[in-house]
Amino acid sequence: MTRRGALIVVSGPSGVGKDSVLKAFMPGRRDIMLSISATTRPPRVNEIDGEHYHFISQDAFKDMIAKDEMLEYAEYAGNYYGTPRQWVEENLRRGMHVILEIELVGALKIRALMPEAVFVFLMPPSLSTLRDRLIGRGTETPSSISARMEAAKKEILQASAYDYIIVNHTLPDSCEKLSAIIGAAAQRASHLKDIIQEVTKDA
Ligand code: 5GP
Repeated sequence: MTRRGALIVVSGPSGVGKDSVLKAFMPGRRDIMLSISATTRPPRVNEIDGEHYHFISQDAFKDMIAKDEMLEYAEYAGNYYGTPRQWVEENLRRGMHVILEIELVGALKIRALMPEAVFVFLMPPSLSTLRDRLIGRGTETPSSISARMEAAKKEILQASAYDYIIVNHTLPDSCEKLSAIIGAAAQRASHLKDIIQEVTKDA
């Protein structure tokens, strides 16, 4: 019997380095898949449709909501972001661990919907490091940086709602911690309930 995969939700303020950590972490992990969100935000330079996001129109996004095709969605800094439901459910069913890289509101919706999921918050060492990273990225306008810093403060204040916090000092350290968390998530008794039945079936 294929055991259902674990759902891992990774949040953290824009600019904290979620993409870099996940990009460094994913290669070689054939047991883990990263969900690709849908968004109404326009692509940044170098972002590829279907790889970084599914870039869709507001109408297409609303249509997906109406058809109940979003596992969760939220508005963030003026754009909509959502997790396509079917892909996540299919991969969990076939035993893959699935990572959702989503913001706080969406994470709280997942918590209510799938309490067995594991919630990880990637924390910047300080707000000034975060601002420097956002500016250094060179992809955001000054108003987008302000909106993202405002959202960041709100998110950081709610970090205790998560199961784990990783302070993103260095990539290797954050990757190692994430790996340990996912390893532990897959071994939780609540996740392995069916093994009790399996082992005792001939008793
Ligand atoms: P960005 O525009 O920087 O790519 O993403 C902005 C924020 O949206 C990030 O905090 C990111 O985690 C979040 N986000 C990306 N995809 C989703 C999603 O499917 N659902 C929700 N709720 N947030 C998302």
